[in-house]
Amino acid sequence: MESTFSANIILIKSLRGKNKQKSLNMLREIASEIDPICRARGWTVWTLREFHPKNESLLGMNVDCSEVKLRLRYGDEYLSYDEILGTALHELAHMEIGPHNKKFHKLVEELETQLAIQQAKHAMQVSYMLSSQFYI
Ligand SMILES: [Zn+2]
Repeated sequence: MESTFSANIILIKSLRGKNKQKSLNMLREIASEIDPICRARGWTVWTLREFHPKNESLLGMNVDCSEVKLRLRYGDEYLSYDEILGTALHELAHMEIGPHNKKFHKLVEELETQLAIQQAKHAMQVSYMLSSQFYI
């Protein structure tokens, strides 16, 4: 299953078969969180794709700085959203740095901080909307 997303994350694809819609929804949620990061840094992910590699310890992969593959599940058992999001940030950092060196880990930290700020802003907007509704 696939759908287009944004100018920075072009296409989203889940694996075919059982739970393809659930996987696609999860990827869309991940995409909406990493989209502003990609935009800010000028990164284009041509395809954000679910994969199910035989190697059980493999959680993600960045292919040629154009495709990000993420493991969402083991069989029917889904990983936690935060775990998948963490892997997504790791793979995004490979857009700039290949090896897992100091610079790479620093960049991952930067991305995590950027995401946390985004999430905090979003939470503030939501609570503002909720409190406004109270006075309507
Ligand atoms: Zn890596």
